[in-house]
Amino acid sequence: MDNQRRLEAERTLERLMPRMVEHRRHLHRHPELSFQEARTSSWIAERLADIGCGSVRTAVGGFGIVAEWTGLEPGPTVALRADMDALPIEEETGADYASTVPGVMHACGHDAHTAGLLGVAAYYESLQGAFKGTRRLLFQPAEELTPGGAKPMIEDGALSGVDAIYGVHLWSPLPAGRVETRAGAFMAGVDEFTIDIVGRGGHGGMPQHTADAIVAGAALVTALQTIVSRNVSPLETAVVTIGSFQAGEASNIIAGHCRLKGTVRTFDLGVRDQIRARIRELTRSVCAGYGTEGRLDYREGYPPVINDEAEAARCLRTAAMLFGEDAAGLSELITAGEDFAYYLERIPGCFVFVGAGNPELGAVYPHHHPRFDIDESSMKQAALLLIGCAESFADANG
Ligand SMILES: [Zn+2]
Ligand SMILES: [Zn+2]
Repeated sequence: MDNQRRLEAERTLERLMPRMVEHRRHLHRHPELSFQEARTSSWIAERLADIGCGSVRTAVGGFGIVAEWTGLEPGPTVALRADMDALPIEEETGADYASTVPGVMHACGHDAHTAGLLGVAAYYESLQGAFKGTRRLLFQPAEELTPGGAKPMIEDGALSGVDAIYGVHLWSPLPAGRVETRAGAFMAGVDEFTIDIVGRGGHGGMPQHTADAIVAGAALVTALQTIVSRNVSPLETAVVTIGSFQAGEASNIIAGHCRLKGTVRTFDLGVRDQIRARIRELTRSVCAGYGTEGRLDYREGYPPVINDEAEAARCLRTAAMLFGEDAAGLSELITAGEDFAYYLERIPGCFVFVGAGNPELGAVYPHHHPRFDIDESSMKQAALLLIGCAESFADANG
């Protein structure tokens, strides 16, 4: 992206900024939960029609929308993605654009992702074909709830013919103006599991006639801690958490049933498989050792977000070019998940955080908090960064 195009993009987005804010606030007032984004989806389609986009596909893998612009010069197809769903949280910001839907809130910033991508849409429309290749914008539903909205959109062709993909998450723990990502593993794969231990209950004073599910459960919880400490390589990162242990009714009754619930976070598919296999083995063998039976229900969530090396470097280079050398840097590993992982499993690309925190505006709360809010100026940066990455990729692969 040469200097002149950069300045033009900045000017265009500056001009579009009031509309992006208006769009974000509209979405913020009218949030919809994952897999229920019917109104949000048709609202986005209407805004794309206002902008004048000639190629819009609706109902892509559910409520997904794909909009496309093709330039006059041949070149690669680059996809840019925003998610659109909200969370089951009662908003407590007190903002005048606060949610009007009881118990539902845009508490992760997906309203701003969508508004920012509509800014990108207006930018490409304004170019009237003066760019190389094709830009495909993906408006994705249902990021917050597995199995997620990315997978069905991919199965419905959202990535067909796409050479690279980029996605932004506005991130309130980072100050507005900051851009961070990393090559390789960036965000965790997130799985969940439930273990039911079936023993034989009985009289608390006569344990010899029972198989105590609580004792087996306690031993199993302890044994599961050894997966990360004794089985996973010390050079890898993983989490195994038991967050729920439910058993028993009274002090004088030996429990015949115990239920454990936990989550697994990994940054490598091999480590994920290893942990899953060890949970299965320990559940079977520890429970059998205590005369009980362990039944594991392991549910795979999103895989880890693994950024392409070259595309992560491009993203940081582009951010430094757009916002200054000091603005871009290496992110730490993030133990939250993202279904952007499914796109990156198929094609090269990069997922990147754009800082949205600002104490002066009260944007200091974490994501998924009832008082979560963002510095709205970050939407312009997100849009510029997505455009910058797409143009850099097209210049390099023209
Ligand atoms: Zn979220
Ligand atoms: Zn999110």
